Amino acid sequence: MTELTHWIDGAHVKGTSGRFTDVFNPATGEVQARVPLATVEELNDAVARAAEAQKAWGATNPQRRARVMMKFGALINEHMDELAELVSREHGKTLPDGRGDVQRGLEVVEVCMGGPALLKGEFMDNGGPGIDLYAMRQPLGVVAGITPFNFPAMIPLWKMAPALTCGNAMILKPSERCPSTSLRLAELLKEAGLPDGVLQVVNGDKDVVDAILDNETVQGVGFVGSTPIAQYIYSRAAANGKRAQCFGGAKNHMIIMPDADLDKAADALVGAGFGAAGERCMAISVAVPVGKETADALVERLIPRIEKLKVGPYTAGDDVDYGPVITSAAKERINGLVNSGVEQGADLLVDGRDFSLQGYEEGFFVGPSFFDNVTPDMDIYKEEIFGPVLSQVRTESYEEALKLTMDNEYGNGTAIFTADGDTARDFAHRVNVGMVGINFPIPVPLSYFTFGGWKKSAFGDLNQYGPDAFRFYTKTKTVTARWFSGIKDGSQFNFKAMD
Ligand code: NAD
Repeated sequence: MTELTHWIDGAHVKGTSGRFTDVFNPATGEVQARVPLATVEELNDAVARAAEAQKAWGATNPQRRARVMMKFGALINEHMDELAELVSREHGKTLPDGRGDVQRGLEVVEVCMGGPALLKGEFMDNGGPGIDLYAMRQPLGVVAGITPFNFPAMIPLWKMAPALTCGNAMILKPSERCPSTSLRLAELLKEAGLPDGVLQVVNGDKDVVDAILDNETVQGVGFVGSTPIAQYIYSRAAANGKRAQCFGGAKNHMIIMPDADLDKAADALVGAGFGAAGERCMAISVAVPVGKETADALVERLIPRIEKLKVGPYTAGDDVDYGPVITSAAKERINGLVNSGVEQGADLLVDGRDFSLQGYEEGFFVGPSFFDNVTPDMDIYKEEIFGPVLSQVRTESYEEALKLTMDNEYGNGTAIFTADGDTARDFAHRVNVGMVGINFPIPVPLSYFTFGGWKKSAFGDLNQYGPDAFRFYTKTKTVTARWFSGIKDGSQFNFKAMD
């Protein structure tokens, strides 16, 4: 049995708590490793060491910090297949999807390579007589990243790359279900030149999270996970005077207008609804066709596509569409919700409950389910299922479809499929959701924009990655400077003055 470690001061360190949790291979149901759950003392020690390391790192010029990101990016590329395999082995997603997980994180590292441009601050020449004003962006100090199981590479990279580029030290607390990718990324960061102690990976559960939230040295907390935990972490961090941005769950609606290309809409719904077994915060879980004809035509197209889905282990490579869900508890919960949908009167047109895969009977596989005639009072509509289940809610008009989307408590992503620019533009303008796709089902913005939902999908200010991340991970200091005379003699000839 592999015993995983923490990563402290640039080295693997065994846990001392004696408490562990199992890391499964979701495809086989076997325990493949156990991960130590840190104590409050271990966490506080890691933070104290990080604070010490941050002093020199924060004083290192931004370009040098960005160069670490350049080498880190090159190493991620070099180890792409290995990292993707690590993601898939613990998460269960297919290998191409595992590569996507690493790639979408790498893209944030790539933006950080040009990070100094986002750290320039502001300047006003002659704001008063002989007075110049300038605003500096300085690191917060020690910050923490607390991440979910469903993107074991991407989300830790979204947290660590901007935080470190801004000159902070980071305590990363990855999901205890998929911790190995974060540990490997820490090794690669060391190889890229990150000084020891600047990134500490502390494994654990609620005890460690609470210790992070109560540690006075930790200045900022970036969280991604489910909504109740996001709200809890945001409240406790804020009560303790920390800066916090906490991203939560989702229930993403896709509106299909009568003029949409329905084959393309059906393909999009199947990919976005069932990809990664529906375990994406940007998964489409609710199809909202407008008009009976659209709904019937969509059903006709969706059923054969869903029935054809290939479900299997990541070791089957490109040959599977999606893999198992993360735990047996997740599998039971999803099947329980499908049962509730039937009991509450939705029409189950494709039933994935009794799915079993020969040779992988103990794996956490769930077949695809598709419900028609779902109504907003049903649990399958209200809950974030986070599994391979698509619900269709029929509407009579564009306004009704828009209202349904807007009335939902979540506001992470949404999409509209239409051939009409006027409708698309109206939708993008009015909908109260953070990320909008037009004929594009999973509108995760590219890394030089920012990522974040509205309503119960995010708590706190500022989005993840892009320019917002540079604002979140720095604080502004504004200087008002007056010089009574300023001409100096002498010249400097060293072209490399900034190096
Ligand atoms: P989760 O909330 O169970 O766990 C997330 C993190 O919080 C983990 O590191 C976990 O150890 C920690 N945690 C769990 N329970 C805790 C508690 N009681 N107190 C303190 N910390 C606790 O989420 P998950 O199951 O790992 O991930 C799936 C969820 O994440 C889904 O709801 C999904 O929508 C959401 N998600 C959101 C985004 C986004 O950007 N909005 C992105 C990915 C995933």
